[in-house]
Amino acid sequence: MHELSLMAAVRDQVLAAAQADGACRITAISLRVGALAGVEVDALRFAGPVVLAGTIADGAALRIEIEPATCHCAPCDASFEARDGCCDCPRCGTISRQLLCGRALQLLSLEVE
Ligand SMILES: [Zn+2]
Repeated sequence: MHELSLMAAVRDQVLAAAQADGACRITAISLRVGALAGVEVDALRFAGPVVLAGTIADGAALRIEIEPATCHCAPCDASFEARDGCCDCPRCGTISRQLLCGRALQLLSLEVE
């Protein structure tokens, strides 16, 4: 499962950040997932406890927010939200090739003790 390796990468990032902070326990992890990142949020929620088991983030709450995909239309010089992965401009119908955001999986913040 793709989400499992993504969560493993998040775990490594989280543990490194907590260590740098001198934290001994991670209680919550906030992530932002782009709507077009190709990530199943449910699978991510499932993968979290699996990869975090046995670490200082064991049992940490996983907060996931979805970042809408945003495209830029050159003819209109405007940005719009790409719904359902469709990048055609709602004003003029041009297919945008410029995806501004919505593809990334980002670590937003951590709560530690
Ligand atoms: Zn347009």
